[in-house]
Amino acid sequence: MQDARSEDDLQRLQDLASGAPVVRAVDEIFDAAVMLSATDIHIESQEDGLAIRLRVDGLLRPYGFLPAAQSRPVISRVKILAGLDIAERRLPQDGRTRIRVGGADVDLRVATVAGLHGETAVVRLLSRDAKFLDLAALGMAEDDLAAVNVQIQEPHGLVIVAGPTGSGKTTTLASILSVLNTPDRKIITVEDPVEYQIPGLVQTQVKPAIGYTFATAIRSFLRHDPNVLMVGEMRDRETADIAIQAALTGHLLLTTLHTNSAAEAVVRLADLGIDSFLLRSTLRCVVGQRLVRQLCARCRRPTEECSASASALADAGRFQPRPEDSYFVAVGCSWCGGTGYRGRIGLFEVIRLDEGLRTLIRSDVDASKLAQEASTRGMRTMLQDGMEKYRCGITTVEEVLRATI
Ligand SMILES: [Zn+2]
Repeated sequence: MQDARSEDDLQRLQDLASGAPVVRAVDEIFDAAVMLSATDIHIESQEDGLAIRLRVDGLLRPYGFLPAAQSRPVISRVKILAGLDIAERRLPQDGRTRIRVGGADVDLRVATVAGLHGETAVVRLLSRDAKFLDLAALGMAEDDLAAVNVQIQEPHGLVIVAGPTGSGKTTTLASILSVLNTPDRKIITVEDPVEYQIPGLVQTQVKPAIGYTFATAIRSFLRHDPNVLMVGEMRDRETADIAIQAALTGHLLLTTLHTNSAAEAVVRLADLGIDSFLLRSTLRCVVGQRLVRQLCARCRRPTEECSASASALADAGRFQPRPEDSYFVAVGCSWCGGTGYRGRIGLFEVIRLDEGLRTLIRSDVDASKLAQEASTRGMRTMLQDGMEKYRCGITTVEEVLRATI
C-alpha cells in the first residue's frame, strides 16, 4: 500500500517535472545564466519556496524566487536533465549533462544535497568553449606572455600555475594547452574534473573510488609516449615525485598549485619533500594569478582624481600616478546588472627561473626572499599588475586590493 502510494507520488512528480510550465521555468534560468556568463546556478529549497541565485564574475547575486509548489518539480527537472534519481531525495547526488542554450552546447555538472526544507541543487556551467581559449587574451602583460610562450615551447621541465580556488588557473592551463595543441605533440591530461574539452588531446578525469588518482595517472601516461602532460593539481608528495620524474625524463609537465603567490609555490614543492636539486633542474617558470572584475565598458565613468585607496598606495610607495593615467569609477547599467562590472581579467606575476634564482632554491627556501629577488630581476607582482590595469581604466583599486591583499 505504502509502495503503491509512493509510486503514484513519483509518477506525479515526474509528470510535473516534465510539464510545460516547469520546463519553461528551468529553461529561463539556464538562458539567463548563459546570457550573464554565470559560472554557477544555485537552486535552494527554503521554507516558503525556491530561491535561485547566479554566480557572475565570482559573486553570487539573487535571480528569482519560485513558489513552494514548484520547488520539488523544478529540482526534479534539473535532476532528470543530469540523469539523477528523482526518487532519491535524501542522499547527495551528482551528475553531468550537456544541454543546448541559445545555439551553443553547454556542459553542466549538477550536485544535489538535502537541506532542512528540501533539496538544493548547484549547477556548474562548464560551457567554456575551447575555441575561445586564448592565452594572449587573459590579461598577461606582454613581457610575461612572451616569457611564458618561450618556456612552454621547451621539450621538458615543469611549468606551474599557482593561485587559490577560483583564480582562473584552469583557464590559464587550458589556454597553454591550446597553444601546444599541434599535430606533432602528444598531450595527455588528468583533471578533476575536465572543464574544457579540447579536441586533439587525451583528457582523463580522476576517479579515486577505483584508484585512478593523479599519481597513478602520470605513472600510466609515461607508457603512452607523450610530449606534454597536464596534471590538474599537485596536492601530495607521491604526485609531486612522479611529476618531477616525468619532467626530468623528457616531458613538459604542466600543473597547478594551491598557493597565494608564485614564490610560495616553489616553497610548497620543497615542503612536499621534493629534492631541491631536482627542483632546480626541472622548474622553468611559475605563474601566480588572481581574477578581478572588469569595469563595465558601457557605463564606467571617467574621473580626474585617483581613488583614496590608490592615493594610500601611492603614499606607501606602492603606486606611482602618471600624468597620462585615465581613471574610471564603476557606475552600473542594465548591461552589467547594475553592478558597474562585467567580465573578469587576470592579474599575473611570473617568476622566470634564471641561474640566479635557481641558486635560491634550497631545502630551506624562503618565499619572501625568493619573491624579493624575483622582483629585483624584473618580476611584476600581482598588485603591480593590478595597478597597471587600474591606471588604464580596466578595473578599480578596490577590485585589485580585494584580489591581492
Ligand atoms: Zn554597466
